Amino acid sequence: MAFLFDSFEGWKKYCDKHNVSVVDAVIGYEKEQKGRTEEKIWEGLGQAWEVMKDAVKTGLEEDMTSRSGMIANGAKKVYRHSQTVLSKEFQNLISRALAAKEVNSCMGRIVAAPTAGASGIMPGVLYTLQEIHNVPDKKILEAMLLAAGIALIMEQKASIAGAVGGCQAETGTAAAMGAGAIVYCLDGDIDQIFNAVAITVQCMLGLVCDPVAGLVEVPCVVRNASAAAIANSSAQIALANVSSVIPVDEVIEAMGEIGASMETRYKETALGGLAATKTGQAIAKKVLIHDIEILPDESD
Ligand code: SF4
Repeated sequence: MAFLFDSFEGWKKYCDKHNVSVVDAVIGYEKEQKGRTEEKIWEGLGQAWEVMKDAVKTGLEEDMTSRSGMIANGAKKVYRHSQTVLSKEFQNLISRALAAKEVNSCMGRIVAAPTAGASGIMPGVLYTLQEIHNVPDKKILEAMLLAAGIALIMEQKASIAGAVGGCQAETGTAAAMGAGAIVYCLDGDIDQIFNAVAITVQCMLGLVCDPVAGLVEVPCVVRNASAAAIANSSAQIALANVSSVIPVDEVIEAMGEIGASMETRYKETALGGLAATKTGQAIAKKVLIHDIEILPDESD
């Protein structure tokens, strides 16, 4: 059954042939390939959902100042700001994605969905979706399973790690997972779900991984917010049956091709992009000196 998660086409064909839902196919895969019982699968998903919600709350309630100082309670400022750009819902979405990711940057507990660097996107998207549409918890857990299937294919066909494929692979995959989850929860069909994935990835292609001082803080935190917004815009487009034109499997292959040809300095090495700017370099130097200063003095 592993072949299912080699391509979106294979996943759809399997569902059509066996007359199973897109989520049931993932459950079958988890049982067969990972040897998990259905009870354990739902239990694990339930725990992950609680951790995601906790991360959102923690990021909005507790002090989120990172050791480098680059992260300084940004989510709370956005959440409480009196001026809304679009709507309170949009403000909440952005704040929650920032909040959960800030928790990661401050070494708190998160769900790596699919990675720690992109850990704010799914919580921000799902929390806001549930609040607006009263989505039952069971449906949210199903959407998380669907999202896991999406990530599996993206990992197979391209990558989900910034060090391998740039930030497009990391935040891009999380955004694709979020977009698919939104469309699923709003009763979209399999074509609309996969179209949402394709549109999302089209919007994220080419994004490099360039963390300042090698810390998963800047630009990572704000990219979680923008990826959450892109997940929502793509879901809106896909639900209206506006086609991505390029089929989803080909879009993911393009992501893999771009990732493979990306220079090493754009793959989490902190040698290019924002990390290589004058300010980025100065921060890296400061962080390094700080780290050396707090090292235990072996001569004592
Ligand atoms: S810039 Fe790199 S480290 Fe930061 S979120 Fe993107 S992939 Fe992860």
